[in-house]
Amino acid sequence: MKRNKIHLLTICCLSIALWSPAIGSTARADEPWAEQRQIGPFAVHSQFSLKDHVGLFADLKQIQQDLKRCLAIGDPRAPIQMYLFADKANYRRFIEARFPKAPDRPALFIKSGGVCMVFAYQSKQFEIDVRHETTHALLHADLPMVPLWLDEGLAEYFEVAPKDRALGNSYLGTMRLMTQFGIAPKITSLEKKANISEMGGSHYRYCWAWVHFMLHGPREAHGELVRYLADIRAMTPPGQLSDRLSRRIPRLNKQFVKHFRTWQR
Ligand SMILES: [Zn+2]
Repeated sequence: MKRNKIHLLTICCLSIALWSPAIGSTARADEPWAEQRQIGPFAVHSQFSLKDHVGLFADLKQIQQDLKRCLAIGDPRAPIQMYLFADKANYRRFIEARFPKAPDRPALFIKSGGVCMVFAYQSKQFEIDVRHETTHALLHADLPMVPLWLDEGLAEYFEVAPKDRALGNSYLGTMRLMTQFGIAPKITSLEKKANISEMGGSHYRYCWAWVHFMLHGPREAHGELVRYLADIRAMTPPGQLSDRLSRRIPRLNKQFVKHFRTWQR
């Protein structure tokens, strides 16, 4: 898989929470859809047959189950609206008519009026885009907010096919190389990112790396992430995850370096 090429494209997603579109509170489903049906928590409106994407929806179900099992993310209380387009022109026309302020991105997650919506069109990275944006949707369907860096780190982690998450992501090689030199990306720098426009390719990689560390590294890191998300859900001021991890794990950066130096295929 041409991961490097794909990543250049998929980093251009956008997650918008509590955003007010210019027209209506949700995208209307009045397009000539080839297929409209409920698949698990997803209300899918597609301009093409979904019969060739059975595996993709199995992946989405897996993401939902894994978010629940690993991070205690609750099931969506309302269907996640998913709009799938045959090509970019149709996608842009739909988005521009309903969300004129939305940037030109290959795929979008938008939360508006409490409704989570995913938009994507058929392309080489279609399934990666859908897994990425759906991860945002599942998180935001349960939580009142998710810090940008963590939101993107989780979406990057879950965007690959489930079998590739732990060991098959192309980010892993770069992180192994960095950590051979004892370098850990600063989690505090990632926490300062307030807007997706401040995020470059390396930032997505670093967000992914900290998520990988919390999911596959020390048990204490995973436990702190789960508690942090629980505080957000309970509307308890969660503080910075970096502070919480540092309190819980002495020599946090060294543990991060050790994690990637020893993590093996
Ligand atoms: Zn994203």
